Amino acid sequence: MEEDYSPPREDEEYFTCPHCGIFGEQQWEELTSGEFPLENHPKLCRCWRCKRISLWFGGMMIIPATGGAPPPSPDLPESVRADYDEARAVAGRSRRAAAALLRVAVENLCIHLNGPQRNLDEHIGLLVAKGLAEETAEMFDAVRLVGNNAAHPIDRIGLDERPEIVQTLFWLVNEIARDVITRPKQRAAATAWIPPEERARIAARNRKAIEKLERSRDTGVEPTDVPDQGKDA
Ligand SMILES: [Zn+2]
Repeated sequence: MEEDYSPPREDEEYFTCPHCGIFGEQQWEELTSGEFPLENHPKLCRCWRCKRISLWFGGMMIIPATGGAPPPSPDLPESVRADYDEARAVAGRSRRAAAALLRVAVENLCIHLNGPQRNLDEHIGLLVAKGLAEETAEMFDAVRLVGNNAAHPIDRIGLDERPEIVQTLFWLVNEIARDVITRPKQRAAATAWIPPEERARIAARNRKAIEKLERSRDTGVEPTDVPDQGKDA
């Protein structure tokens, strides 16, 4: 996936191309007609790299229908990818529908991680309690908030003025997948060779260090760093 994803926005000179996925220069041309007044300012936009064209109407990318949304992470569970693809299919027509569907995708991912019978807000709290980094939780919450906003009549976060927010949600869902699925999988594969007895010793060391720190918090005395005798540092 393109690392420096920048959502497409009308009249923007640089963004991530909806066709080739490369961040690059975009050339714009407003469509005109000698005979008929054209409403909603239809425009063509051409990627400088791949030379392919997107069609814009009323400030939205109509073709391709994905609205420039990147493809889903292959590491997402199949049901989550299905929600994501559905959101992508409508992104060029309805940002609100896409935002609501991405919220469903994230909720399905939480069910995959936590099991059912919670609302999304509780799911995210539980993931943090289980050790999820707060930076990653913030990405979950961003998708939750925009999705909630899209499903209510009052636009509380200015989705109409900042349509690129929805495009950014697609990127966020893939970043979440990277943090909670791809990276842990890669880390597990890269450290799978550590022998079980060493894993047991590491776990005991960590427990001991945590207990020591907790005791020092209770007593107000700084923990001393005495390495285990007879072990490599
Ligand atoms: Zn391109």
